Amino acid sequence: MSPEIGVFDLDHTLTGPKSAQVKAHALINARGPMIINTARETGMVMSSGALEASRKYGYERAAPHLGVDEETGKRTYARPERLDQYAGHLDPAAIIGFGGGVLLRQHDRGYAMDDSFSSLLGKDFRKRMRAHLEAIDFEGDLIAYLSPLEDETAFVDGRTDVEPLYWRIQVNPKDEVHKTDLKFRIASYLLAIGEYAAVRIVDESRPGRPCFYIVPVMGTKEASADHLLRHSLEEARVDIKSVNLTLADDAFTGLHMATDVLPGANGTFILPGKAPVARHLMPSSDVYGKPFVGEDVSWLLERLEPTTQEGVYRCRMPGDMPDRRFVIADQAVPGLVAAESILALDERGLIYPA
Ligand SMILES: [Mg+2]
Repeated sequence: MSPEIGVFDLDHTLTGPKSAQVKAHALINARGPMIINTARETGMVMSSGALEASRKYGYERAAPHLGVDEETGKRTYARPERLDQYAGHLDPAAIIGFGGGVLLRQHDRGYAMDDSFSSLLGKDFRKRMRAHLEAIDFEGDLIAYLSPLEDETAFVDGRTDVEPLYWRIQVNPKDEVHKTDLKFRIASYLLAIGEYAAVRIVDESRPGRPCFYIVPVMGTKEASADHLLRHSLEEARVDIKSVNLTLADDAFTGLHMATDVLPGANGTFILPGKAPVARHLMPSSDVYGKPFVGEDVSWLLERLEPTTQEGVYRCRMPGDMPDRRFVIADQAVPGLVAAESILALDERGLIYPA
């Protein structure tokens, strides 16, 4: 018995034409539990029926406003199953919301929040962190650069599609210099008041679009996934060493999943097609090894060893833990994006190895 578990990011990983989404979802689901690990609002990953069923388990978040009311121009709820860009990846076995907590699918397809994990993240995280940010904002350029998502009235007024998230605060600095300065000021302040160890500043910038998040230390994508898997396997009395994990994410911060989710299990990490960070990891590229949006990539490159297969690397793990496989789609199946690259990798036998 070697259980297969898939932990997949959504945007730029499983997105694409609806047919490709549906096919990718089906193939992952057929192998074992499919976990979606996404920065999207958790309600965007639930069909309308699943969201409705979740209410009796105490799911309190407002349904995401994916549609627009033609008369008022305001955002309004639309059933995700009727929208092509959402329809293909609804109702996975579990949803890890980056900032939204962990949700577990129940027998009636409704989702229940993992409350023990929520308490680890801290019930008052947002309120506490907002107060800190206001205290640091002596130059008036921090609160002004919070994402519109952080505006508590924006959702109610129909200006944003989701409510502020419980465990994530998003800052959109004007450029890289501003980003470095804000991160430094926030870190220094949190260090001075003894809060630094409790938070992570997660840089999710893309070229030309600086952005970072402040999250609880257990609220990163890799820590949340590790927690969920570790506890589920413990409850099911399954040995970590017997697990075959497939992880996929296109973001720079998602790369940490390759090494930090359930070390000790066998694993493959997939970097889907056209991920902006890929060129920084490909030896043939002119930006190989260079920082990505100002962030170091050498911690990962030091672990990667090429194999005889183009785009497939051995990712060294510490001690006697089994090494993992690291696949760069741009090299293995060039020219394809997101779900289509995942499908092509599967055809090559690279997603769930025999
Ligand atoms: Mg993504």
